[in-house]
Amino acid sequence: MDAVQSKERQDFGEDPVACRETSHYQDEYIEGFVDKWDELIDWKNRAKSEGDFFIELLKERGATRILDAATGTGFHSVRLVEAGFEVVSCDGSPEMLVKAFQNGQQWGHILRTVQVDWRWLNRDVHGHYDAIICLGNSFTHLFSEHDRRKALAEFYATLKHDGILILDQRNYDAMLDVGYSSKHTYYYCGSNISVYPEHIDDGLARFRYNFPDDSTYYLNMYPLRKDYTRRLMKEVGFQHVDTYGDFQETYRDAEPDFFIHVAHKA
Ligand code: SAM
Repeated sequence: MDAVQSKERQDFGEDPVACRETSHYQDEYIEGFVDKWDELIDWKNRAKSEGDFFIELLKERGATRILDAATGTGFHSVRLVEAGFEVVSCDGSPEMLVKAFQNGQQWGHILRTVQVDWRWLNRDVHGHYDAIICLGNSFTHLFSEHDRRKALAEFYATLKHDGILILDQRNYDAMLDVGYSSKHTYYYCGSNISVYPEHIDDGLARFRYNFPDDSTYYLNMYPLRKDYTRRLMKEVGFQHVDTYGDFQETYRDAEPDFFIHVAHKA
């Protein structure tokens, strides 16, 4: 695989809070961030905290062909391949896919990677899948409703007639409604990476990631409300949507940190 040219620094412009652009995710996942992330997040711990939720869900439905739409560094792709599923691993970020491919090799697998933006998924990804997964709070990278509808419509078209889309998101309702007092620092899976929502308003959640060597990176996300996501899924054609609340990180409160939506095509 050819080397990917990477920027050395994240660039959110002069006013980072004004940076609300869907395509900007390409500039956020720079090599330094991607490398650090995987050095410190222990996949075994992550698997333990997540359990077999997704694997069970997919098996119950008899799913075999899975599209991992937000592969990132390959955590779910590798888990699903290990569990016997046939997986195609997509992501819009070449940095992420290179890392995912290397991680796959370390586990003894050759991941089938495709670099593609969800908004134009069907241009490069063909065939009909039993399930699409879009996990790790990825969908909230989309900043306009048009982009969200377009991506969901592409997911819908890539599924078999009775396929499912599994998509998760942070619990932004709690952050938006409770405001500053809900701004916890989250710690990932027992590691020393902390995540803090540095800015939140109706159109932006800006997260700061601090690593033990004092390096800092940011992600700018759109704060999706749970019911809004469910509505959009139904409006693009999904027949019904089940939403689960789950704790994914080590902060504990009455509210779940994440919601997981399972959207059914039939
Ligand atoms: N699912 C992985 C995980 O849980 O570790 C990665 C999560 S990471 C927060 C979000 C991923 O979504 C990144 O790898 C990013 O490149 C990808 N992404 C964001 N917007 C995208 C888009 N419009 N098209 C394709 N991939 C996108």
